Amino acid sequence: MIIQRPHFSTERWGFLFMWRRRVDKDMEKCPVCNSPTLTTVCECGYDFKEKEVVGKNKVIEFYKSVKTTKDWLKQVKLVKNIHQVQQKKHGVSYSGKSGGWKLEKTAKLLSEQISIISDIIDLADAIDLYPDLKLSQCKNRSHALRRWKEFKAAGILYLFYKKFDSEKDLQEYLETQWDDTPLGEKWVIKESLLNTGDVGQIDILAHHRDEDRWLIIELKKDTSPDKTVGQLQRYMGWVKENLAEKDEKIEGIIISGFPPDKNVKYALSINPDIEQKIYYLKNGAMKFIKEQFLEGLLDIMKLPLGQQMERLKEIRLRKENNKCV
Ligand SMILES: [Zn+2]
Repeated sequence: MIIQRPHFSTERWGFLFMWRRRVDKDMEKCPVCNSPTLTTVCECGYDFKEKEVVGKNKVIEFYKSVKTTKDWLKQVKLVKNIHQVQQKKHGVSYSGKSGGWKLEKTAKLLSEQISIISDIIDLADAIDLYPDLKLSQCKNRSHALRRWKEFKAAGILYLFYKKFDSEKDLQEYLETQWDDTPLGEKWVIKESLLNTGDVGQIDILAHHRDEDRWLIIELKKDTSPDKTVGQLQRYMGWVKENLAEKDEKIEGIIISGFPPDKNVKYALSINPDIEQKIYYLKNGAMKFIKEQFLEGLLDIMKLPLGQQMERLKEIRLRKENNKCV
């Protein structure tokens, strides 16, 4: 019986294996078409060295091929990627400002009408920003666009600041996800729904992990009325009298939904031990709106709806590009 020897020695196989592994590791994904590529210029026209789309014929050809697949979502993502890549390279341009990469340039690059490109990028942003709208599940682009326009008209701002269905849900969320919330790092829950007997029920009673500090949290699913401040002060007094050691500090937080109540703000300005935090839900996780963002957000809300969206988009772009406009 003849035993066939392997054609390659083990060293040679090992070498090939290592080479493959190195290639896999170095393989970058194209930021435009997402396909892994080994060439300097991707089939979609993106140049890895120049970090922009260089091959105009190549990109048009690629765009056309995606268009003919009838996969509208793929088309929308492709256009947004191209626009983003070009903006990253040449700078962002806002209407009325010179220089930078404008929508017109992306339209020209793809030899497509500017109104179509503008709609596509608007839609692509909406798909990323508001996954809850499930726009990506629409049967075609014009359908998704129509839906998006309806939502815009209905006041999209509130949608972004999604709330819990009930105060009970908010309470349960904090109890179960506490360590993942912005408060979990410093504070630990001592009691939940604590019945004080004489002054009412404390939603959450927490203690600082390292310091001699108590924290009483009052929850409001929606905007909190200013009488909440008095309610919280009552609880704080009760904790001071019944639970706290002599030198322990008593603090309070009102967690409520958007928008914040103006009267609460005034009431808190002379109550340094009480804070108000406005929550919102992002992909099911509770977050707090940053203080500095809140002011701007309220200003935006004074604008007409169409302009609100424009402004939000501008802010988001500014954030992405780390630029002042
Ligand atoms: Zn590509």
